[in-house]
Amino acid sequence: MGRREGYPLYLKKYCGDTLKNQVHDLDREDKEFQGCRIDEIIASGRARPFIPDALEQAHNDGFADCPKCIGETRRRSLRRDCDGGPPSSRGGS
Ligand SMILES: [Zn+2]
Repeated sequence: MGRREGYPLYLKKYCGDTLKNQVHDLDREDKEFQGCRIDEIIASGRARPFIPDALEQAHNDGFADCPKCIGETRRRSLRRDCDGGPPSSRGGS
């Protein structure tokens, strides 16, 4: 599988799902039954490329990472910087 020739992706690395607002990395596509289902996205007309073909551009366009093909790899490389400080320090004084 991997990147798709022809409309609308033209061998782009990233595929946006305009229904779920998710971006998929076709080089890491999850081909399991409940995986990315890229062909289904294309067949139903929800696929769109990004210009430039970059994950950052997808984020700028409001797309979230697909947890199957992008989320897993990012989680491994990112450190725990999502919890911005201890929750006990929140709230009023
Ligand atoms: Zn995916």
